[in-house]
Amino acid sequence: MSSTKVTRSLAVPKPSISTDSHGNSSFNRPITIFSDFDGTIFLQDTGHILFDNFGCGPEKRKELDSMIGTGEKTFRGASEEMWGSLNVTLEDGFVKMKEELVMDKHFKEFFDYTIKSNIPFNVISAGLKPLLRHALDEFLGKEKSAKIGIVSNDATISRDGSEWIPIWKHDTELGHDKAKSIQDFKMSVSGEIPLIVFVGDGVSDLAAASQADILFARQGLALEEYCIKNRIPYIPYESFADIQDELENLVVGNKHHDASAKKLASRPSYMRTSSTSQVPVESSRNMKPSMLSAYVS
Ligand SMILES: [Mg+2]
Repeated sequence: MSSTKVTRSLAVPKPSISTDSHGNSSFNRPITIFSDFDGTIFLQDTGHILFDNFGCGPEKRKELDSMIGTGEKTFRGASEEMWGSLNVTLEDGFVKMKEELVMDKHFKEFFDYTIKSNIPFNVISAGLKPLLRHALDEFLGKEKSAKIGIVSNDATISRDGSEWIPIWKHDTELGHDKAKSIQDFKMSVSGEIPLIVFVGDGVSDLAAASQADILFARQGLALEEYCIKNRIPYIPYESFADIQDELENLVVGNKHHDASAKKLASRPSYMRTSSTSQVPVESSRNMKPSMLSAYVS
């Protein structure tokens, strides 16, 4: 399916989240972001870079990938073969990753915006934690990287690089069931359950899509195709700048994330007239019509 066709057939999203179970507006809830890593924050796949350079090679990798597609192998089984084929030290693997990885060109600006707006940002990935953390440290600096939670598989890697053994987060065919991780997060929250914003691109994100309140799918890729096929509401994006535009619509006037809205909410009610309102009604960035309307009945 071409990306143009995918985008054109977008007009299907159904309303889903205008209010929560308490009747509160979804748009005035605390927000938490979960984002896929490979193909989403970075345009490449950390595993592919390593497999192609230090392991089974691109042909075998593609063969194993297609066996996942046909059901001949599970994601976990095929992945264990790919990781098991590596013979490279972690340090040498990092050098190659640094050479080849390209971060989404608007991610840094986007991430700064989430920090400014006090929105927790978490990576949720089918990849291996040491690689993900290292890439974030390299591209964002350790101080900012430390603000990002990582929910992923882990790994045991021998010092000489001859053994790479994934430690799967869940005992399932996927190894990491992202839907379960988001459900576990919701269960762990003691107060109001946050509005879950999920950002992804591919096959490993399909299960998580059902757990998101607002879903962003990279244009023209497998997650978007899945959403269209299954009539799941989503917002397409080309870069994190598109996501930031939409996120600003959720933040402006939101008492949890907009400092001016917080100030207003703390005033006595008799002072909260329209003439004293300091809530900006429109973001300067937001010149395009918002696609969040797909989520409002
Ligand atoms: Mg991905």
